[in-house]
Amino acid sequence: MRAGVVYLVGAGPGDPELLTLRAARLLGEAEVIVHDHLVSAPILALGRREAERIYAGKERGNHTLSQTEINALLVRLAREGKRVIRLKGGDPFIFGRGGEEVQALAAAGIAFEVVPGITAACGVAAYSGIPLTHRDHANSCLFVAGHLKDGYMDLDWDSLYRPGRTLVVYMGLPGLPTLCRELIARGAPQTTPAAIAQHGTTPSQRTVVGTLATLPQLALAAQLTAPTLIIIGDVVRLHRQLAWFEQAF
Ligand code: SAH
Repeated sequence: MRAGVVYLVGAGPGDPELLTLRAARLLGEAEVIVHDHLVSAPILALGRREAERIYAGKERGNHTLSQTEINALLVRLAREGKRVIRLKGGDPFIFGRGGEEVQALAAAGIAFEVVPGITAACGVAAYSGIPLTHRDHANSCLFVAGHLKDGYMDLDWDSLYRPGRTLVVYMGLPGLPTLCRELIARGAPQTTPAAIAQHGTTPSQRTVVGTLATLPQLALAAQLTAPTLIIIGDVVRLHRQLAWFEQAF
């Protein structure tokens, strides 16, 4: 029997035009597409019509398959000799558990390849007109996961805010009030510019801009829905001048 293979592929933040050529080609060849909820419908439509599509979850609080089940599924499909695409939103190695999945494949002796994708931070930065670094504003950038665990964000609070550094928070919408409050409590100026963007790079992208003091209220009033990305730091000031994408709608 032909040996199966799993391609762990980053689908980017939403706009299908942001797929890599390699991702688009592999999508057109795959027999099975195992995707999560962040992968947009227009991207899934690029797979072959006869390809088997398996939805693996996960939305917050609605895990369709557990991580162990997903790992086992990928191993099983590859053992059946299938060419499998494991499609993930953004980049598979940034907050995507892609590392865990290829570890499982490696442990089972399954052939795999990893195809990087445009991570949400880069997609949102580009389409919201917020450069993550800029010589006048920031010379480094930090990506953190801001999801709440039992109502608490497990972050290294004391080193989170630095002048001259852009902070990008994934999965941060439910914890936004906590995030802003804790940053201010640890010395970040209340006036630090902060933005939150929903559905980056898609027609429903919206960016709400304020400060650490005002953003939680503004985000609430705007009734944003996931996925959203938070960007904090001086670079957010550039949005006013550089927001090219939302103006197109
Ligand atoms: N591997 C993904 C991240 C997965 S974690 C990547 O590299 O982008 C899921 C989080 O990513 C979401 O909670 C959200 O914070 C962010 N995200 C993914 N797609 C997004 C989008 N189109 N717009 C805004 N945030 C997005």
